Amino acid sequence: MTIKIERKIVKYHVQKPEEAQAAKAATTQAANAGEGVPTALPPLPTTTTVRDKNGHMAQVIRMHEKLERPEVLIGSTYKIKTPISDHAMYVTINDIVLNEGTEYEQRRPFEIFINSKNLDHFQWIVALTRIISAVFRKGGDVTFLVDELKAVFDPRGGYWQPGGKFMPSIIAELGYVIERHLQTIGLLRKPHLDEHQQKLVDEKRAEYEARTRQTDAFAKSDFPEGAQLCAKCNTAAMVMMDGCMTCLNCGESKCG
Ligand SMILES: [Zn+2]
Repeated sequence: MTIKIERKIVKYHVQKPEEAQAAKAATTQAANAGEGVPTALPPLPTTTTVRDKNGHMAQVIRMHEKLERPEVLIGSTYKIKTPISDHAMYVTINDIVLNEGTEYEQRRPFEIFINSKNLDHFQWIVALTRIISAVFRKGGDVTFLVDELKAVFDPRGGYWQPGGKFMPSIIAELGYVIERHLQTIGLLRKPHLDEHQQKLVDEKRAEYEARTRQTDAFAKSDFPEGAQLCAKCNTAAMVMMDGCMTCLNCGESKCG
């Protein structure tokens, strides 16, 4: 939070942690009494002291909005091409590396930019990127953004991506892009099938393809034609096998 100082600074005072606590309590009380003007809460510390594995005390930098943006950030750009727009969207997510070279090294998203030639959604995109960037910089757990965005449905209907994945909206696709990015930098774990599940899915797929022998050379989908939408992974990869709907993408089975 930025505070504009209107008057000349005549003296200053260093706030001690216990005073900060008291100020916070006072603010909360005032707010509870309904008379409180929202005042700035004391800033959280950007570093915490922890004991490392050798028993030494180490200062660990945490993500915090007061953290200054370094001159150079590393990032990735993702292309989103939807069938409902002629122009592609380019999503860039830049990361900051905290505690570089130490055992507490962590890569965290710092800012997001979206570029498109399509200006239909310009103001919403600007608002969204500013808010997402602000959430990134606030620190704490930011992975909730993925689920919030993925749950957005376009009332005009979603669309199918090449490969057979259903996207309920462009915003949801943005959620998938952020998810992919957070998985790449290690903030979210990639869902993966274990060896046994993967083997089962591969076997079932080979069996189904051998049985039907209807591979359309021009089909864009990675999955057999006529496959149904899987409710678990949103991919048209559900096929009927031995009287049981089975997903060839994630292994979901209606028969347990
Ligand atoms: Zn599935």
